[in-house]
Amino acid sequence: MTAATASAAPAAQRTTAEWQAADAAHHLHPFTDFKALAGRGTRVITRGDGIYLWDSEGQRILDAMSGLWCVNVGYGQRALIDAATRQLETLPFYNSFFQTTTPPAIQLAERLAEVAPPSFQHVFFSSSGSEGNDTIVRMVRRYWDIQGQPNRQVIISRLNAYHGSTMAGASLGGMSGMHAQGGLPIPGISHIEQPFWFQLGQGMDREDFGRRAAAWLEARIVQLGADKVAAFIGEPVQGAGGVIVPPASYWPEIRRICDKYGILLVSDEVICGFGRTGRWFGCETMGVTPDLMTFAKGVTSGYVPLGGVMVGERVARALIDEGGEFQHGYTYSGHPVACAVALANLELIRGEGLVERVREDTGPYLARLFDELSAHPLVGEVQTCGLMGAIQLVRDKASSTVFDPEQSVGMLCRAHCFENGLIMRAVGDRMIVAPPLVITRAQLDEMAGLIRLCLDKTLAELG
Ligand code: PLP
Repeated sequence: MTAATASAAPAAQRTTAEWQAADAAHHLHPFTDFKALAGRGTRVITRGDGIYLWDSEGQRILDAMSGLWCVNVGYGQRALIDAATRQLETLPFYNSFFQTTTPPAIQLAERLAEVAPPSFQHVFFSSSGSEGNDTIVRMVRRYWDIQGQPNRQVIISRLNAYHGSTMAGASLGGMSGMHAQGGLPIPGISHIEQPFWFQLGQGMDREDFGRRAAAWLEARIVQLGADKVAAFIGEPVQGAGGVIVPPASYWPEIRRICDKYGILLVSDEVICGFGRTGRWFGCETMGVTPDLMTFAKGVTSGYVPLGGVMVGERVARALIDEGGEFQHGYTYSGHPVACAVALANLELIRGEGLVERVREDTGPYLARLFDELSAHPLVGEVQTCGLMGAIQLVRDKASSTVFDPEQSVGMLCRAHCFENGLIMRAVGDRMIVAPPLVITRAQLDEMAGLIRLCLDKTLAELG
């Protein structure tokens, strides 16, 4: 069958091979070596329910990554589907430019102000986390213009951070592979080391290391000159970098240093927001209140795209009272269907008590299961925070010696997960989970059992 005739066939009538051929012929996937993928063929995911997915071969898969850290309420939630349908029927689109808006956008802004820490009473909408972080760059620099300090341009971020894939998002991020393509970062972004104890702090007390990692921020501010620095941005827990949970001492010290030099603190809550860490926002788990927060993913549980920036009073007052027109916005800022789905999603999270459940029940239970897995001979360290966790694979447990990156042991392990009906992510040799917040204890047991099986298979393969 040619791609042209196949495309006219109903989805259910295509074989996996037909899907793969059409995919290879026309679809360029994100973060993918296109040629290598065309040779291997993609896995076609056709259906989801709760924490499970099914592929075009009918295999059931436990989705321990919530899609891409986003399907917080799990798949197939009727309330979100109905909210989207109702809004599509009533008003599928209108914008928030030129003195107009829509009821869902107003209601969602109101609702976000209720669930965020009290100093956040305003929101600016985008459609993704990357766009949200572009807005951060525009907003932070605009704030300092208004303050009469336009030279405060530099935003300090961290190596191995992930803040998105647009020019500003990729620049704020600290992924060397991304910077190597396309002349990034853009000017005015400066990176410091991450608070990654396993890699940078071994032999040191964790909390002392947390203070040392925060001191790298102060050193950079002094080096650049505080009058040049606009903001510091960080994920409460670095997600795509490998679920790097900082020592408890880190974030309060970061806040203290930002205050000392008058610098804005931005929390990228794209992964950590909406219950992932056991509070509505990750910064609350870390015990700090930032000045701005980026959000996306979990706000709609990924059912439709939505993101944005929660704006704290310090910046909001400047923008509103003194800023005049803010020359920035997206066609889909405050998209009514996305906002309606987000409202239903937040109501579900609240009604089911998912944030409390992660904090008091499933989060501690995941920590216990990971603690048990830490005895495995391949495991050098485990870390969890709420319902996100990392398992560091090592060559030698006693000395915490890591594998040669050329061996791609994480990818070997990930392949075993795929074959055994589990989606886990490999960041180098760190195996990552972030399951839907609706996951039960019994399902966490099932996940941990599959992880152990795949660790055993990886170990056996390594000989
Ligand atoms: N910020 C963080 C912390 C993320 O993890 C991501 C995506 O994974 C982004 C920003 C970018 O979000 P998006 O892919 O929606 O543009």
